Amino acid sequence: MPHDTPAPPPDAEARRAVAPVICYPVETLPVPDLAAYRAARATARKTGEVLVPPREGRCFRVPAGHFFRITCVGGPQVGDLNLWNAADLSERFYSGKTRALHGSHLSTGDRMWSALPFLRPMATIVADTLGWYGIDPFGGSVHDVIGTRCDPYTHRLLSGGDYHHCCHSNLTRALADATGLPLAEAEMHVHDVLNVFMCTGFTRDTGQYFMKASPVRPGDHLEFLAEIDLLGALSACPGGDCSAEHSSDAAACFPLLVETFAPEAPPAGWAPPAPNGYGRSHGRRDGR
Ligand SMILES: [Zn+2]
Repeated sequence: MPHDTPAPPPDAEARRAVAPVICYPVETLPVPDLAAYRAARATARKTGEVLVPPREGRCFRVPAGHFFRITCVGGPQVGDLNLWNAADLSERFYSGKTRALHGSHLSTGDRMWSALPFLRPMATIVADTLGWYGIDPFGGSVHDVIGTRCDPYTHRLLSGGDYHHCCHSNLTRALADATGLPLAEAEMHVHDVLNVFMCTGFTRDTGQYFMKASPVRPGDHLEFLAEIDLLGALSACPGGDCSAEHSSDAAACFPLLVETFAPEAPPAGWAPPAPNGYGRSHGRRDGR
């Protein structure tokens, strides 16, 4: 990307040397009681499963207090996850604020937060078999909330031509099928995703979003507690392990398995979180 670079001021190095400050210190966030979550999970029985075919999307429902697990089956495969409040599609996963709170990549103990004005945990990660990966020498890590989802509009913009099995379209068809909404209406509810199993980062020299072959292997999984009643949609990305390209049928693609589990009782001390308590006056007394 060409930039018109101005000459640096005399104190440029001093300005660059200022130490960063964390935007959103999370010490005040309520911490999930993972021990209680895991104790409940240990009692859970499987209630259902959905196999997401390669280059397709599928929806699934999870009641509050139940668990869901996304598993790599067959071969390395990336999944694009959307979440909605099952009773209100306007409450959707908020990738950007989740990133601001937890960082660019999620793992055990992190939450998927919902959009304003709700801003509450929708799901909490309780197990991540790729938790060992950490941050690699390229600055890459797994399960990012920095990407968006592959979509046919960007594909057309950059490459020309139409491709119909981008994650955006897969999620759109899945949501339309699950809700009965017309395709065009369902599309408006599709949003930026949690990139399950995807390995991504930003290049240090240009700041560009990069991807590399996912370290996921069959049997690896990511597991969540549903904090509220959820409608989820998962797309098995046409990029497969996202080692080379997406938005085409070129990559080897595999299915992803979604399983749901009901505990004998919800985690001890747990209750579904209430929507954010801000009064929404936005500083105007009459609210108009
Ligand atoms: Zn994709």
